Amino acid sequence: MTHAGRRLGVDVGGTDTKWVVLDGDTVAAAGTVPTPPGPGETMTLVASLADPSVEAIGIALPGHVDRASGTALFVPNPPGDWDGYPAGPRLSALTGRPVAVVNDARAFAHAELLLGTARGLADALFAVLGTGVGGAVALRGAVLVGPRDNLGEIGHVTVDPSGPPCCCGNRGCAETFAGGPGIVRAFGSGPAAAVAAAARAGDERAADVLAGAGRALGVALGDAAALFGVSAAVVGGGVSGALDLMRPALERELGRRRPLIGDVAVLPAVLGPRAGAIGAALCGGMSG
Ligand SMILES: [Zn+2]
Repeated sequence: MTHAGRRLGVDVGGTDTKWVVLDGDTVAAAGTVPTPPGPGETMTLVASLADPSVEAIGIALPGHVDRASGTALFVPNPPGDWDGYPAGPRLSALTGRPVAVVNDARAFAHAELLLGTARGLADALFAVLGTGVGGAVALRGAVLVGPRDNLGEIGHVTVDPSGPPCCCGNRGCAETFAGGPGIVRAFGSGPAAAVAAAARAGDERAADVLAGAGRALGVALGDAAALFGVSAAVVGGGVSGALDLMRPALERELGRRRPLIGDVAVLPAVLGPRAGAIGAALCGGMSG
């Protein structure tokens, strides 16, 4: 799919904010900056990135949003008080450009579906392994959104009802095992990349922790595949560099469910750490 015009996409994270300018389907410029101390400062930052060539803007937030009004609804991680913040109207007023406000995992999925590893697939599941585990579902060539941009939270499938507490209020969600902090907690030190390095160096306990992460992800993706009848799962995010170490346990969980869900292909994401920003930019070019 080719789009006309240059669009700015911004992916606001808990620590860093990534941005890209898309020219058609090509990344023309990109960068990473520390996330500002609050939503107002973030709008000022985004406005400063919107040079006159930018025709539309998309912002991805790590939480639930109302796409219709451009309002943040439940965005707990970035600094400042985002909940209820009218990001879309504020940024439109600052820049005079149309603004789309979307969930970061749905933005990631949109990018990988249109331009990445899921290109050409009609149906796919998505898991983004980072501090949390974001999720999304695409059916018939479109990422499902839901009323609060909240559809597809695969990271909050219950893997162990008596497991560690999750930020969502539940216990033992997939995120508590396969997200970065969950991996670090299970191993006893971090960061998650160091646990992966230890596993590669032959540390059996580190390998077990990553197998546990893979199993949790397999349970969540297997359940999602059963619910949605989808036979491909895209795995990305910063922690997915350890996907090869998680994959045997992940595949075992999917294989156990094969009579019901058939073969589910596990596909590494290909757009890298800017996938969320690319997806936000793509959403910025859409009406509504
Ligand atoms: Zn949860």
